[in-house]
Parts: sequence; C-alpha cells; structure tokens
Amino acid sequence: MDNFKLTTVEEMETATERLLETGAKVGADSWQQRVKNQTPHCKFGEEGTCCRICSMGPCRITPRAPKGICGCDIHGIVGRNYLRFTAGGSATHSDHGREICHTLYNASADGNYHVTDTEKLLKIAKEWDIPTEDRDIYDIAHEVAEAGLMEYGKPFGYQRFLKRAPERRQKIWEEQEIAPRAIDREVSRALHMTHMGCSSLAEALVKQSLRCGLSDGWGGSMMGTEFSDVLFGTPMPVDTEANLGVLEEDMVNIVVHGHDPSLSEMIVKYAEDPEMLALAKKVGAKGINIAGVCCTSNEVAMRHGIPMAGNFLQQENVVLTGACEAIVVDVQCIFPALGPLSKCFHTKFITTSDVARMTYTKFIHFDCESAGEKAKEIVKLAVENFPNRKKDLVHIPNMKQKATVGYSYEGIVKTLDTVTNSFVDLTGTTKPLVDCMRSGVLRGAVAMVGCNNPKVRPDTAHIELMKKLIKNDVILVVSGCSAQAAAKAGLMDKRAKDLCGDGLKRVCELADIPPVLHMGSCVDISRMMILVSELAKDSGWNIDELPVVGCAPEWMSEKAVSIGNYVVATGIDTYLGVYPYVKGSEVVDGLLQEGLKDWVGASFHVELDIDKLGDAMIHAIEEKREALGI
Ligand code: SF4
Ligand code: SF4
Repeated sequence: MDNFKLTTVEEMETATERLLETGAKVGADSWQQRVKNQTPHCKFGEEGTCCRICSMGPCRITPRAPKGICGCDIHGIVGRNYLRFTAGGSATHSDHGREICHTLYNASADGNYHVTDTEKLLKIAKEWDIPTEDRDIYDIAHEVAEAGLMEYGKPFGYQRFLKRAPERRQKIWEEQEIAPRAIDREVSRALHMTHMGCSSLAEALVKQSLRCGLSDGWGGSMMGTEFSDVLFGTPMPVDTEANLGVLEEDMVNIVVHGHDPSLSEMIVKYAEDPEMLALAKKVGAKGINIAGVCCTSNEVAMRHGIPMAGNFLQQENVVLTGACEAIVVDVQCIFPALGPLSKCFHTKFITTSDVARMTYTKFIHFDCESAGEKAKEIVKLAVENFPNRKKDLVHIPNMKQKATVGYSYEGIVKTLDTVTNSFVDLTGTTKPLVDCMRSGVLRGAVAMVGCNNPKVRPDTAHIELMKKLIKNDVILVVSGCSAQAAAKAGLMDKRAKDLCGDGLKRVCELADIPPVLHMGSCVDISRMMILVSELAKDSGWNIDELPVVGCAPEWMSEKAVSIGNYVVATGIDTYLGVYPYVKGSEVVDGLLQEGLKDWVGASFHVELDIDKLGDAMIHAIEEKREALGI
C-alpha cells in the first residue's frame, strides 16, 4: 500500500488533547468543557415534549399533565416542534440560495463576479424557457437570477426544478400534496401551522415538514448549488489535502468558515494578489495560505483544491494552533465561542454578514458591490497580523492526508465516460454506474452527509461506517462535514481502494477514483438528488427501488433535518445515528420511521449503535437488490 495509512480517530484525539493544553494555558473555553456543563440534557427537550410557543406556557407533558394548557396533546407538541425544526433548516439553506441568486444578478463582465460556466447557465435558461438566442450572456444571467429570486415568493405554481425528477416522483409529490410551491411560503406556512391554536394533527405537521424540506432540496439548495456553479465553475476532480496539518507555520494562515462561496471565492482571489503577496513577504511570511472549515471549505476545495483544515468540531482547534491570523466567516455553523477564543490568541475573528453577528469580532460588512475591496481589506488585515503571532503558543499538528475531491454530478458523469466504449456506448449518462450495480460489482451506494455532534465520538461514526461500507462493495457519495471526516482520515485518497471489497476496488482502479466521492457542501446534497434522478431514468427503476440509501450518522443542525425530509421525500431511505427530538410521541416517531413509506416509498431509520446502523444499511441495500431481481 506504498506508505498509505489512514489517520485514526485516536490520532486525531491525541492532537486535540495537545491543542487543548495550549487552550488551558491561555484560559480558553472549549466545546468539550461546555458539553460537560450541559450534561445531562433536559429530558423534555430531548423527547420534544415541551412547548413554549405561547405565553400561557411553557408547558411540558408528563403522566400527570398529559396536555398543554390549550389542550394540545403530546403528538401535536412533538409534531409542531419537529416542523419548526425543519422550517429553520429550510429557511437557512434557502436564504443562502437567495444570496447566490443576488450575486448572479450582480454579475457583470467588468464587476466582481462573472459567469464562469456558460454551458450550465444556458442549460438552466433553456429549462426555464428563458430566451438565449443572440443575447448577451449577462442579460441571460440576470433574467435567470431574477426568475430564481421569484421562486422564493411566487404566488402560483410549484418549484421549477421539480421537473428534473422522474415523472413518477413528481406524481407522488402531487398526489401526497407535498410538491413545494414558493420557498418562503412553505417556511412561513410551517410557522403559521405551528402557531398556538392551528395544527395539532401529527400527520399534517409531518406532511408539511416534507413539503418544507422539499422546498429546500429542490428549491433553495438546488439554486444555491446551480448558480454557484454558474458563477464559480462546476467542480471537476481535483487534488487537495485535509486536516489541521494544512496550516503552514511560515505562512499567513487565513481560515474561511461558513457557507456562502461569494465570500470565500473573493478571499481566495485576493490571497493571490501580487500586492498582498509582497506585503506577506514584507512582514516575514513566505506567502498566504488559505484553508477552510465546514461547508465553505467544501466549496473552495471542490472548485480550487483549497485545503480543508477540518469540520464542525474542529473549528476551535484551528484557532488553538496559534497559527491562524484570521478566521473569516459568513453564516451558519459558526460557534459564537470563536470570538472569546480568538481573544486568547492573536487571531482576528472577522464576521461579514448581517445574518451572523456575534460578540468579540471585527465586523466587515461584505456585499456584492464592494466584494473585491472588502476581500482585499480582510486579506490585508490578516497579513498585517502575522507579526503578532505568539510563537510560544504555535503548534500545528503534523497531520494531513491527500484527497481527490470535486465530484459534482457533471464530474461523476465525466469520470464515468472514461470507462465507456466510445464505439458502442452512449456517453454523458450514469449507465456505467447502473451496469456496475446491476451486475453486483457494486452492491449499491450510500449518500453520507451531515455534521459532527458531541453525542457521537466525533468523526468515528462517519469513518467507521465508510470503512465498513466500502469493504462491502458499497460506494459512498458524501458532502458537508461527513466529507471532511473522510478526507481527514484518508478515505478520499485513491489508495484507499485497497480497503475496499474486490468489486469496488476494481471500479476504483478502472475509473481512477477514490471509494468515497466528495460531492460538495450541504446545499450540494441537491447534486445527489440529481444523481439519483438520473440513475432512475437511466436504469428504468424508481428512485425508491434503487439500491441506494442516505445516512447522517452525526447530524446536529436544523438544516440536517430539513435535508433528511427532502431526501426521504425523494424516495431514499435515510439512516440517522442521532435521535431527533420526537421520541416523546409514538405517532410522530412511528410516522417518520415507518408511516412515511406509504406516502413516499421511504422513511427514516434511527439506530444509535453505529455498527448496527451499518448492518442495517447493507441489509436494506441487499433487500432492494433482491426486490429488483439483481
Ligand atoms: S401552545 Fe398550548 S401547549 Fe404550547 S405553550 Fe401554549 S398553551 Fe402550552
Ligand atoms: S454538515 Fe452540519 S455542521 Fe457541517 S457545515 Fe453542514 S450543517 Fe454545518
């Protein structure tokens, strides 16, 4: 295996311990300590049985008090909480998508943002009946962006992208009355339904959760992904590195964290600016090194091979290295703890969005019009901060792995084209993948997504499940912090093929891919929806029949719940390693874990034992194969 070795969770934990020692020296707080302070959690919260949506409450359900003051029962309370959780996630992804629409609307030939993938733009314009003949590309871009913005509040009709799904799936959405209409309408409908004195019927609340989730996956997230590709390029396979060792001791380290690529793309651009590089040399650094955390990291890694410093629960570690000149953030999944933590070091914690204002930060408002100027200001600030490093606090763990990333849907299809026979086969389809599944060389695929959660030993579930699945000839498509766990461990190194079963190993060799394919950030789970839709069309099977399941073993955010809802509503069984706050109601829990099958052909499955979770997914894939007779 020519020196190839996975990085173990134990090694990562040892590195963290060492960093926490530095933290203790400077009096820093840590998430590990805060978890201890918050344990044990409140049982009512854990089970979803407390309600505080009106000031007659708060109410909580006990055997002695089986109803809230208004008379709402446990199923209504749990269902409402679940729907509100989903709406939070859907709003978040969708607002991200809206910002990208605005960025596209602002794109111009001589401005900060440009159209990079013209082909994709023209494809979307054609799909949306927007004329393209003899028109300036920016006129088309602005009309597409405006049409996209209308998706958020249009008074009639359904989400435009639903038409990308196989017809049978579209029919299910219509029949079940879960086809999403305007994106914001589904979020505000969810908030209306969950107001005191509106819906308390579990079925109605869960159904709206599906519709609200679908407005994210097939609406806001899909626009976020597609328009980001138009602006910054559709990812194609590219080599990079992952884990804290990507920070450089002799360079200015700027860490980008958050979600929206409009910010990180500009930071990447200005880090290459000759003026900034000269300044870096002047202050004694060898250059400027950009690394990422969370989904922003996925965005710039996928498009430019920018190294990935780590995932969600690694964000504090980045500062604890003492070698981070600036951590630049936009929105979502940013620990407010980073403000006080960075004060213990020389690190500048720079917030840029009105959506995510925090204490102890330097706020530099970032928008489309001033993007270039602001990005330069941020990079300059970081460079000038290099001499302030406290040398005795610097410790960068010697820990990184090589990774090949950039497997967008288009990147996967292009890769599959390399194994077709140009004389007899069609190119530009998923058919080679279907053939591998049909023959059994590949047993199936798992889409692994989601966060870290201190309730699960960080990264263990992601890494152990991936190892188990690839050994059983199941290929993985991954995104978000799951993708980063894989990259940090080394599972995106092509040499990880040696950890696979014979079938998957052969596929990796022939197609020259790692066994775990990075499909991008959390909004890019929409790429997975396109992939399964095309697999269904190319195979003639329905999505719910494909030997494919979803998995979020360490999920934590509202966004993850919104994602789960649209993945299941798209017909993909989804396996969770953390219990959602629904245990208190056997009706809501029963609907999610079984009842949804009757509506959409798939459901959730919760299993906290990670080994059993892996077995359950393999079993489900084999069952689907048997049902297909393959
Ligand atoms: S809506 Fe009902 S259950 Fe909820 S806090 Fe008000 S009275 Fe209590
Ligand atoms: S996977 Fe979860 S923690 Fe990571 S960026 Fe996405 S929502 Fe945040």
